[in-house]
Amino acid sequence: MKIGILGGGQLARMLALAGHPLGLQCVFLEPAAEACAAAVGRLLHASFKSEDALATLAAEVEVVTTEVEHVPLAALEFLARQRPVLPGSRAIALAQDRLLEKNLFRRLQLPTARFVAVDSLEDLISAIETTGLPAILKTRHMGYDGKGQVVLRDAGDAADAWRAVGGVPCLLEAMVPFDREVSVIAVRSRAGECRFWSLTENRHDKGILSVSRVLLQDPLQALAEDYCRRLLETLDYVGVLALELFQVGDSLLANEYAPRVHNSGHWTIEGAVTSQFENHLRAVAGLPLGATAARGPAAMVNFVGQTPAPREVLAVTGAHLHLYGKRPAPGRKLGHVTLCASSSALLEPGLEILLQLAQRREEEHVLD
Ligand code: AMP
Repeated sequence: MKIGILGGGQLARMLALAGHPLGLQCVFLEPAAEACAAAVGRLLHASFKSEDALATLAAEVEVVTTEVEHVPLAALEFLARQRPVLPGSRAIALAQDRLLEKNLFRRLQLPTARFVAVDSLEDLISAIETTGLPAILKTRHMGYDGKGQVVLRDAGDAADAWRAVGGVPCLLEAMVPFDREVSVIAVRSRAGECRFWSLTENRHDKGILSVSRVLLQDPLQALAEDYCRRLLETLDYVGVLALELFQVGDSLLANEYAPRVHNSGHWTIEGAVTSQFENHLRAVAGLPLGATAARGPAAMVNFVGQTPAPREVLAVTGAHLHLYGKRPAPGRKLGHVTLCASSSALLEPGLEILLQLAQRREEEHVLD
């Protein structure tokens, strides 16, 4: 079976790698000149707005999915007239707009940070009374990896913050004093079966995910699954979805969801019985889902901006290296390593080395 993927980056690449043994082949549509997925499948290099390219993709594949959420809805609707598009355009449309997304959480009774829609400087000034300070002004559209966000610490920051985001429609959110950031990755089949991987704790550096640790038997697992299931069901979702949450004490606040495979689920390639990539393909292809159980303690470290020497990474027992074949550039995700161990105590020393390698190389790159 052939599966069309909108986007040709590392997520598409890892999907194609997972599909290969199952006899699933991927065709990518990617507007950017560089597409690291091209090494593992057929690439159509064209705009998402090109109806010719969309028609070619639809003609070549049986089902279409996406690795990016910022894809024009018109493209999804065009494709959906010819082939199943999974997940559907509604799940993607809601994730593209932080206000619609937060309103959906509210409707589903998922707790969130206090938030207010902001369309002008006057709105922003009065929104501060609802959220309190500090607060974060976030653009409704095109925000990811901390982009399109400004922190307000003082009411006097409002005018500068409004200018910094470019005066576009926004959301003001109360700053959550979270204990940690976690995500739950889930998959839902065409028949509506839901499965969940173990919660993951995520640390960010300059707004970009740097390390994820698997939380085995975490007391908040059931609550996270409950919230995520509400989302999957209301969206009639098919495929993998990641729900990002803030943990405050023993409660969870929903921050955002990604309607696709997610960086905080990369550990599942070696750390779970079935990876997020394989299960996403199984779901969209209408195949039975695989078990999502974790095999044991695991953690993932991202390589951002530069990659360490493979020799140094692979010298760490239990390390699994993934290089994406992308041109290095500051702030760019170039690869990751997953570390698996038989106990948490054994994981820590290796993880320390890998974190140093990821950090050292990034600093060297900046000095370059
Ligand atoms: P986002 O693009 O919404 O995922 O935000 C990027 C990062 O900013 C998150 O991973 C958090 O570390 C931080 N952040 C976003 N919203 C909040 C919030 N309401 N309170 C505290 N930190 C936040």
